[in-house]
Amino acid sequence: MNILILGSGGRESAFAWKMSQSEACTSLFIAPGNAGTSAYGKNVPLNPNDFAAVKALVLKENIQMVVVGPEEPLVSGIHDYFLSDASLANIPVIGPKKEGAILEGSKDFSKQFMVRHGIPTAGSRTFTAATLEEGLTYLEHHATPIVLKADGLAAGKGVLILDNNAEAQEELKLMLSGKFGDAGSTVVVEEFLSGIELSVFVLTDGDHYVILPEAKDYKRIGAGDSGLNTGGMGSVSPVPFATPEFLKEVEQDIIKPTIEGLKKDGIDYTGFIFFGLIKVDEKPYVIEYNCRMGDPETESVIPRIDSDLVELFKATAEKRLNEVELKISDKSAATIMIVAGGYPGHYEKGKAISGIENIRKSIAFHAGTIADGAQVKSNGGRVIAITSLQDTFFDALQSATADAARIYFDGKYFREDIGFDLAYDPKA
Ligand code: ATP
Repeated sequence: MNILILGSGGRESAFAWKMSQSEACTSLFIAPGNAGTSAYGKNVPLNPNDFAAVKALVLKENIQMVVVGPEEPLVSGIHDYFLSDASLANIPVIGPKKEGAILEGSKDFSKQFMVRHGIPTAGSRTFTAATLEEGLTYLEHHATPIVLKADGLAAGKGVLILDNNAEAQEELKLMLSGKFGDAGSTVVVEEFLSGIELSVFVLTDGDHYVILPEAKDYKRIGAGDSGLNTGGMGSVSPVPFATPEFLKEVEQDIIKPTIEGLKKDGIDYTGFIFFGLIKVDEKPYVIEYNCRMGDPETESVIPRIDSDLVELFKATAEKRLNEVELKISDKSAATIMIVAGGYPGHYEKGKAISGIENIRKSIAFHAGTIADGAQVKSNGGRVIAITSLQDTFFDALQSATADAARIYFDGKYFREDIGFDLAYDPKA
């Protein structure tokens, strides 16, 4: 089978690494990919949001399955585009149609969905420019902190957490007058939940689902979870505080009602659902849904899947996920993201990277890298994800951290504390 993966980050590198190991994969294409994905398949320079270019590639290379990494093409309807074109309609797309991707594409929609189907989440109200005055009155006496969320996709920057009411009122005004463009023309005001976050992922064919290994990501730039938010500085899987009892509750209270809710609402969903959860007093609540896998969680999750990923995707497309047995490794994975100096603010690209060949106990999943002849150079803020899969959680953290130190480029930075808040050294 000829397969195309759309995207260029560490997540797509992890997909490509895993899928290239499948006997069912004849040729693998990654568009646009990065300097690392060319080790697993053929990179094709195109923009995944340019559906006509994707179509041309699919027809030229006789692609038989498309796996969509990022949310943007899904939210803007790449799956629907395939279904509406006779020359593409029989080619399975792993990723939901627009009607399902809206779970991520509109926070107001996802809130209403959760309320409609009794899925635990923070209480909320939604406001637009037409109801601004009502919103300001509502915020006057709202308990603090207050969470304001732009309804649409805002590249992870559309959520503000404010400590006082007047500031929240000011921000609501700014958001409704265009601070986040169209994404903020509707704003969800949410109750603040205090707890510890984790991510749970399922792959569903619309009728059945498999639960993938859970993960925890580290969003802040600085050690001890300090400083600015980033796309993600590292991740671990499994998550030590996600006990079997807690995960059972997640399935019962959140996953099942979500899958059933989609069916009740007539949404035929094929692909990943990412549940951004928070554990409050031992109970899981949904913070957000995403319609794709997370990055850098994927880099920890995929190495723990022992089953053939291409077979899982085939079963998803053929609506027979109930027939597959998902094999998950007992090992632990830790991922450390090496980023460019200055990220998530201003940073430079084009730095020569050395030392990738020196890593000992990890896999280097390239993210923002580009090949310049034989030299690999940085090409983004998040540059390389280092994942180590080991028998113990602590060994995984140590190996990934040691291997991250073996890679060098000018301005390179990584967090040395990823996962250590959750672990102790069993030998100490
Ligand atoms: P992402 O970058 O994860 O896609 P996003 O912009 O889609 O983020 P959310 O995940 O909804 O937005 O929120 C971002 C972060 O803000 C959450 O990971 C969480 O830390 C915090 N957050 C969001 N909602 C709440 C809430 N109700 N209570 C407490 N913290 C919250």
